[in-house]
Amino acid sequence: MPNSNGHGMIEPGSTIGILGGGQLGRMIALAAAPMGYRCHIFCPEQDSPASEVAALTTVAAYDDQAALEAFAKAVDVVTFEFENIPAATVEFLERHVKVRPGSRALRVSQNRLEEKNFLNDVGVPTTAYAGAASAASLEAAVRHIGMPCLVKTVTEGYDGKGQVRVDATTNLAAAWEQLKAREAIVERMIDFDMECSVIVARGMDGTCVAFAPGENYHLNGILDTTLVPARLPEARQQQAEAIGRHVAEKLELVGLLCVELFVTKDGRFLANEIAPRPHNSGHWTIDACTTSQFEQLVRAICGLPLGAVDRMANAEMKNLIGEDVAQWRKAVADPNAKLHLYGKREVRPGRKMGHVTRLLPLNNGRSS
Ligand code: ADP
Ligand code: MG
Repeated sequence: MPNSNGHGMIEPGSTIGILGGGQLGRMIALAAAPMGYRCHIFCPEQDSPASEVAALTTVAAYDDQAALEAFAKAVDVVTFEFENIPAATVEFLERHVKVRPGSRALRVSQNRLEEKNFLNDVGVPTTAYAGAASAASLEAAVRHIGMPCLVKTVTEGYDGKGQVRVDATTNLAAAWEQLKAREAIVERMIDFDMECSVIVARGMDGTCVAFAPGENYHLNGILDTTLVPARLPEARQQQAEAIGRHVAEKLELVGLLCVELFVTKDGRFLANEIAPRPHNSGHWTIDACTTSQFEQLVRAICGLPLGAVDRMANAEMKNLIGEDVAQWRKAVADPNAKLHLYGKREVRPGRKMGHVTRLLPLNNGRSS
């Protein structure tokens, strides 16, 4: 089958390159296969969750230019499954092959200061924040933002890593040392009513669709549970979806985007962060939607029409973190639960081992 029809469509039979070998890459590959696409993983680790289910894997460092060049030749389009892939890697690949989403969305999402600047610039408010690049400037930033506040590394944080909560009892010099960062962002702590997230797909023709927002609960900075739909009035759900579409449009993104939102006590949405890739809070779409977030990503980056985002059920997604993985027995015993394990052999505290999605009736008493 030809790989491209001249209109930019990458047809079934083509090969999708995925940077990163984690569970998101695994689920992209699992969604691509039924549509006849092959996936080629590029990651530095042997035996990754993604390579276990993909046709091809290149194990190489993200700065191995010879390996990247060969990878670019072997695939028809490239996407990434986590945002801490060096931007230089994506920029290098962009000179050889289509990368969707491109390096712009990646760069914005990799840097918490640029991310918040971008969001406010496009009219999506965030909490108050300030940058700091030394212990002294941290003190000034904390004074400016007020306490309590959160100090986060500007780059490379995930799952609550690289964050310190600061109040009047905190020794700021020690907090600065603890972060081991060149640059930090100080964020005013939000006493929120709810955390939610919206996932949007944007196609090559600019079509943009949003999944129903999910209501998110974190434990130790790691997503624990997502309830769908978020228990917000219908109009508020639509407002969250509109924010997601707006951000994707402003980024001119082709692919998938998650926008994490806080709902403040006085009912405003404040954006927390964005991720230009499938998101943990969207895993419920695999079992509850006509088109999953992963299939939607494949469709978007291959130039296919986007699928329907209709919900066939409401859902509760629970992550299996570390030793929680033992709960797989309980999950498979529940006929309305769908078990997803990522094939990770080593159990470590805080490691995402899998998730379980429980399907709930559409009219289960929540606003839908
Ligand atoms: P990560 O990249 O680790 O997901 P986040 O910025 O999303 O980093 O922070 C993780 C979690 O910490 C958030 O989902 C939220 O529960 C909490 N959090 C982060 N920033 C704030 C804030 N400014 N106010 C209150 N809670 C916050
Ligand atoms: Mg987050």
